[in-house]
Amino acid sequence: MTRLLAHSPIDGQVIGEFTITPPETIPPKIQSARLAANAWSALPVATRCQRLARLTQVMQENLDQLCELICQTTGKVRTEALLGEIYPTLDLIRYYEKNAAYILRYQTVATSPLTFPGATAGIRRQAYGVVSVIAPWNFPFQLAVVPMISALFAGNAVILKPSELSLPIGHVIIELFKQLDLPDGLVQWVIGEGQTGEQLIDAAPDFVFFTGGLATGRAVMQRAARHPIPVLLELGGKDAMLVFDDANLQRACDAALYGAFSHSGQICVAVERLYVQHSCYAHFLTQLIEGTAKLTLGHGAAGDLGAMTTERSIAITEAHYQDAIAKGATASAPWQRHGNYVTPILLWNVSPEMRIMREETFGPLLAVLPFTDAADAIRQTNASEFGLNASIWSKDIAKATRIAEQLQVGLWVINDVLKNAGHPALPFGGIKNSGFGRYHGAEGLRNFTYPVSGLTNRSSLPKEPNWFPYSDLRYQQFKAYLDFVYGSGSFYQRLRRNWQGLQAFRDYSCFDLTQHWHNLKQRLPWRGDI
Ligand code: NDP
Repeated sequence: MTRLLAHSPIDGQVIGEFTITPPETIPPKIQSARLAANAWSALPVATRCQRLARLTQVMQENLDQLCELICQTTGKVRTEALLGEIYPTLDLIRYYEKNAAYILRYQTVATSPLTFPGATAGIRRQAYGVVSVIAPWNFPFQLAVVPMISALFAGNAVILKPSELSLPIGHVIIELFKQLDLPDGLVQWVIGEGQTGEQLIDAAPDFVFFTGGLATGRAVMQRAARHPIPVLLELGGKDAMLVFDDANLQRACDAALYGAFSHSGQICVAVERLYVQHSCYAHFLTQLIEGTAKLTLGHGAAGDLGAMTTERSIAITEAHYQDAIAKGATASAPWQRHGNYVTPILLWNVSPEMRIMREETFGPLLAVLPFTDAADAIRQTNASEFGLNASIWSKDIAKATRIAEQLQVGLWVINDVLKNAGHPALPFGGIKNSGFGRYHGAEGLRNFTYPVSGLTNRSSLPKEPNWFPYSDLRYQQFKAYLDFVYGSGSFYQRLRRNWQGLQAFRDYSCFDLTQHWHNLKQRLPWRGDI
């Protein structure tokens, strides 16, 4: 098989045909990307920012077509395409356009005048070279373009491997980047299934940014370990929402429905476990049932839930539903599917051994459970093997913050859902089975680079005291020095008891005023005139 057909999950129509990238062409792609990366990383960050920022304009010029293609490819509704894929991408580009130069600046670090007398030191951020972005199908635009553009701001070249289920989006992303003033070969893609992803890693890019499921993440890491290549894994979630009885319950209910059922639950930070304080549990469940019944399926202007993207996801969701029912859960509705549109369902009377509580569902099911107090809510939340996002609902912000800080997650939000994941300045990523590493924010941008540490010794001594030859005397002298610096007692006591040993370092430039004066001159703007 050399070709892949793209079908729309909405109606099964063919929306594209793509030729699988021959494996032997992947290493040359890496080579040309590496050449492009050399030229690109040599440009000042401000120039890179200026050229990449044009992507916001290009995206806006093609906004409606982009949203339509995202809907056709993923099955999601148009408002979700706009708010979940386009908006956070524009926001992140704007954030890095303004901040990348500062985030990636050369940073001087203080050096100890005793250990490194007169030396200067600092850290330069160096782009990795070629970054492979292996992207999933649920947010095929945002979860490809955001890591790609981050890698590019940092000075890398990028090779995208979109999911075989999102090839029309991969294609349009490459076409959008073609409209920017970038070196040839800086942005490329490969087309194929999981095997093509393996071939891409085998061709030894310099960094692998992976978003996808846990099992694939493990396989990617194992493959990258052969070289070894650093990897960053953004994996799945089983996110909890904690509703306390002092919360605005109607707002919390509407948020729960949105957090659990937007994009039919196919979101890594979807609310999949809803914990409600016992004192308001019955009332809240009634509100939820009423709210769920009002949600609509379809692609009309007012459709809330679109089509699910893959047959596999629908099968997993149904299996989680059937497993829960077989083990005694109660459902707000029977399992119903109309084509790829799946009716959202609440499940209660659930227990920890059910699949719905242990595995990522990635579909429109929401488990609802009671908790007694804050300690119980924290314990139940942390019982999961996943640790991505969580939301806490209470009018008492101090209490909610105390609880949030005890949750085992990569990020949390108080009195909102999902939206925090798109904050461009907040590092995003998980712990436990939700992966490791971060993107977004300053830390996320630096993760597409490695630090190069430099130290300049300005000593005029012929030799450093730690160099050869060694002797017992030298050992005793250094012992005296260490006791002087780190030993107990006042400065005067340490100086007095080590005075003899310290004589050996008399000429060392921490005591050398001429050297200090020279260093000072080097750092001052008018250094040539004195
Ligand atoms: P997969 O893990 O199936 O695939 C992710 C990507 O990896 C796809 O491009 C896939 O290609 C590729 N791939 C598959 N096998 C290999 C392999 N052996 N070597 C290299 N690449 C490979 O995930 P899904 O696409 O199903 O995405 C859903 C998952 O992603 C969910 O678990 C979800 O929670 C998670 N996710 C995590 C997010 C986060 O930021 N933490 C965000 C969004 C989703 P192909 O599809 O062609 O097989």
